[in-house]
Amino acid sequence: MGATSVSGASGKITAEVAVIGGGPAGLVAALALASAGVDTVLIARPAEADHRTTALLEGSVTALQTLGVWEACLPHAAPLRKIRMVDDTRRLIRAPEVCFDAGEIGLETFGYNIENRPLVAALDARAAALKLRRITQVALAVEADAFGVTIKLDDAEERVRLAVGADGQRSLCRAAAGIATARRAYPQTALVLNLAHARPHHDTSTEFHTGSGPFTLVPLPGQRSSLVCVLDPESAPELTAANDVELCSELERRAHSLLGKMILEQGRGMFPLAVETADAFARNRIALVGDAAHVVPPIGAQGLNLGLRDGATIAELVADARQQNLDVGAPDVLARYDAQRRADVMTRTIAVDLLNRSLLSDFLPAQGARGFSLYLVDRIAPLRRALMREGVTPAASQPRLMRGEKV
Ligand SMILES: Cc1cc2nc3c(=O)[nH]c(=O)nc-3n(C[C@H](O)[C@H](O)[C@H](O)COP(=O)(O)OP(=O)(O)OC[C@H]3O[C@@H](n4cnc5c(N)ncnc54)[C@H](O)[C@@H]3O)c2cc1C
Repeated sequence: MGATSVSGASGKITAEVAVIGGGPAGLVAALALASAGVDTVLIARPAEADHRTTALLEGSVTALQTLGVWEACLPHAAPLRKIRMVDDTRRLIRAPEVCFDAGEIGLETFGYNIENRPLVAALDARAAALKLRRITQVALAVEADAFGVTIKLDDAEERVRLAVGADGQRSLCRAAAGIATARRAYPQTALVLNLAHARPHHDTSTEFHTGSGPFTLVPLPGQRSSLVCVLDPESAPELTAANDVELCSELERRAHSLLGKMILEQGRGMFPLAVETADAFARNRIALVGDAAHVVPPIGAQGLNLGLRDGATIAELVADARQQNLDVGAPDVLARYDAQRRADVMTRTIAVDLLNRSLLSDFLPAQGARGFSLYLVDRIAPLRRALMREGVTPAASQPRLMRGEKV
């Protein structure tokens, strides 16, 4: 079905697919679609300042390589060769320390950690190089009918066969599709910042599991790391209000001086944590990707890695539908998208939620179960290797881009 054919309802089709939202998930979805030759319009203002970093796991790195983005990312990215989990709960039942080593499963790295700023800049640059049509406005309204989706902008409108909603947690596209979510807020807030330190990180990410949640140091290039420090809401304001000297000494204490003296870089972010899953990932000619579809707490680096697999999957299904001259927004394409994403999203959401809740729980059996699970992971090498493999290459979802193939 050509992009210029006349729709059955109102107005001419102006592009085959619109991606709404220019965060990393939307940009990857738009690049994947455009690189498959799909007539795509990206509706996104330039991304706002984001001090977060993203640990991109192996499949995501492969996808960025395939899309021609990785070369620009690499100078800003640090390899993740080991992941340590340390029980710092000081509770009666404590888990043994577990160390995952990429070498154990024949990989050089699990992936790379990169600041979101250079990641988004590299994606933006690639979109410009591909001459992807971009409208730097917000979508004011999204209306779907049997034949297409109309997106209302400040001074114009776009009409497409399929809208990809990459518009984050408070998604307008999700509301327009009539999709509800199951959401639970955690009594936790994440303090996020980057820092330099006196001792090397040895390409090792260290996750201290504390009673308020994880305290995670993830390598950045040089003697630098990003920190995600999950706090209970009572202690969060005090720590955020602390000056750099006070905050540094508190963070060094929480890190058990693992990386020596710390120097904070500019910019701190606070993120209230929640878990949220859309009841459907697509409906009424609208497919959701990234945080519009699912939100998980920042444990084990799952959120955006899931979001990139969403983008790769919808692009693949659209490319396949086009090849057969089918309507790219038809209900069966959307049903396939929902089915292909559900197992991947649900297994990761449940695992992260369980681990997080077991940290918060004062209930002894819950602590015991966590301790025993980590004991088994520490002692049984095949189980540890299976977990690592599933972590980097999920059995439930390996879209072509993540395998290094073109969309
Ligand atoms: C502390 C923290 C650490 C994390 N660490 C990791 C990690 O290491 N690894 C990992 O995989 N994940 C991580 N995540 C998760 C990851 O950051 C998110 O999953 C990811 O940023 C979501 O990207 P997105 O593009 O879906 O959404 P967003 O980044 O929220 O982007 C949505 C975009 O849509 C735009 N938008 C909204 N409404 C409209 C509209 N109407 N019209 C046009 N545009 C619109 C917004 O302006 C925004 O630019 C972490 C999350 C947190 C909170």
